[in-house]
Amino acid sequence: MTREVPVMINGKPSARADRTTIPVRSPSTGERLAMMVCGTSGDVDHAVDAAGRVAPELASMTVRARADLVRRVGDLVAERAGVIARDLAAEQGKPLLEAEAEVATAVTMWHEAAEIARHATEEILPSDDPARRVVVVRRPHGVLAVVTPWNFPATIPTEYLSAGLAAGNAIVWKPSELTPMTALHLYDCIVDAGWPPGSVNLVPGLGHDTGAALISHGRVCAIGFTGSPQTGDAIARAAGAKPMLLELGGNNATVVLDDVDVAVVAERLHAAAFANAGQICSSTERIIVHRRIHDELLDALTEHAASLRLGASLDPETTIGPVNNEPTAAKIDRHLADAIANGARVTIGGRRASGRPTELYYEPTVLTGLTPDMLAFSEETFGPVAALTAFDSDDEAVELVNAHGLGLVTGVLGQDAGRALAIGRRVSAGVVNVGDVATAWQPHTPFGGYSGRASGVGRLGGRYTIEALSQVQTFVLPAHMMP
Ligand code: NAD
Repeated sequence: MTREVPVMINGKPSARADRTTIPVRSPSTGERLAMMVCGTSGDVDHAVDAAGRVAPELASMTVRARADLVRRVGDLVAERAGVIARDLAAEQGKPLLEAEAEVATAVTMWHEAAEIARHATEEILPSDDPARRVVVVRRPHGVLAVVTPWNFPATIPTEYLSAGLAAGNAIVWKPSELTPMTALHLYDCIVDAGWPPGSVNLVPGLGHDTGAALISHGRVCAIGFTGSPQTGDAIARAAGAKPMLLELGGNNATVVLDDVDVAVVAERLHAAAFANAGQICSSTERIIVHRRIHDELLDALTEHAASLRLGASLDPETTIGPVNNEPTAAKIDRHLADAIANGARVTIGGRRASGRPTELYYEPTVLTGLTPDMLAFSEETFGPVAALTAFDSDDEAVELVNAHGLGLVTGVLGQDAGRALAIGRRVSAGVVNVGDVATAWQPHTPFGGYSGRASGVGRLGGRYTIEALSQVQTFVLPAHMMP
C-alpha cells in the first residue's frame, strides 16, 4: 500500500477527496516513497482555527508543564530515531550516517528547549513612580506559522517547534514538499507526547500555494521561516508587520591564513564544503586562501574530494549522496558553467555523474580562480563545490569575504589568533568562527543573517529562539501588589 502524508489537524488526518496529491521521490533511486496530500487554503483555514482554539490553553499552562511535554517529544524522537533517520535519508538523499546524526541533534534540541524554557526569567524594572511597580513578563505570540526547507528536515523544524511550543504558541506547520515523511514522524511524536489536539497542525503542500496561504492568513500572529532569500523576500512582503524570524541562504567564506598546517585545515574544509553534498546554509562555499599556500591546499582538497564515495543514501559505503532535487542540480550546472566560462579552473568533478539511477548525483567538485563577478561567488550554489580564491593581504581577504550581498557565517583559520580575530571583526556575518571553518555550528548559540544583508532577520538558537517566538508584556502595577 502506498504511504500517504496527509493533512493533520487536531491530531487527526483531515479527510477530503478534493485535494491533489504529489509523489515523494527518492533522490537516490527515483522510486516513489509516498504520496503527499497538498493542503488547500481551506485546510490552512481549518488548521489556523484549530490552533487558535487551543492557543489560550497552551498560554495558560505552566512553563514546567510545557517543558515536560517538550522533553517527552525529544524522548519519543530518540525512541524512533532509527526509523526517522532511514526515511529522512531516503527522501532527502544524505548518507544514513548523516541522517542519524541529524536526528540525534534534533533530540538534543527538544531536550535543550525544555531546559531553556524552564530557566527563562521574567524581569522587574525600577519604577519612576513610587506608587507603581513594573514587571515584564513573556507571552506567546498565539498562532505561529512555521514553514521549513528540505535540507535539514529534522533539525530545522525542531528549532521552531520545540521553542515555539515551549513558549506557549499553537503552531501550523508547512514542511517542505520534498521531505514530508520526516515531518509526519515529528508530528506523530508531538501528538503522542500528549500535546493537546491542535497544538501543532501539519499542512503539507507546495510553497506558492499552501505556504503562501498560510503566511498571508489573517489570524496567524507570527512567522518562523527557513528557506531561500527569494522566498524570504516574498514572505516578508506578504506578512507585512507580523513578527517574524527569517533564516535564509548564505554563501559562506572560510579564510585560510598562511600560517596554518595545510593537511589539518584541508580535512576540516573538506567536511565543511561536502557534508550534506554542500546543501547546508552554513556550508563553506568559498575558500579565501593566502596565495603562499594556495597550491598546496588546492592539491590536498582535490585529493580529499577524490576519496569521497558518491552513492545512494542507504548504501553503507556512501560518504556523499545525490543532491536533493533538479532545481538545485540545475543551479550547480549554471554556476559551474559560468565560472568555467569566466576563467575558473576545475581540478576535480565539475559535472553530474553518469550511469546513476537519477540525474541528481553531482561529482564532488574543487575549483580555483573564483572571482567576485562569478555567480558561484555572489549567489548561494548549495552543492558539493569547494571554490578557492587566492589573496595576498589580510585587507584583501576581508574585502573578498564581504564582496557579496549575503552575510550568514564566516570562518577564519590561522595559528595567530589575534590576526584571525582582527579579520573576523571586519566581516559582515551573523556568526564568525575564529580558528574554525564557517560551517562549525552549536545549536544553542544565536545564528542568523547580518543586518543589511540578504541572509535573514533575527536569530535562532537556544534562548534566542524562545525569545523570538514569544513577546514581552509590560505590567505596571499598584505598588501594594508587589513585595
Ligand atoms: P525554499 O525557499 O524554496 O523553500 C522553503 C520552504 O518555503 C518550503 O517549505 C517551500 O515550500 C516554502 N515556500 C516556497 N515559496 C513560498 C511562498 N511563496 N510562500 C510561502 N512558502 C513558500 O528553500 P529550500 O530550497 O527548501 O531550502 C534551501 C534554502 O534554505 C537555501 O537557501 C538555504 O541556505 C536555506 N536555509 C537557511 C538556513 C538558515 O538557518 N539560515 C538553514 C537551512 C536552509
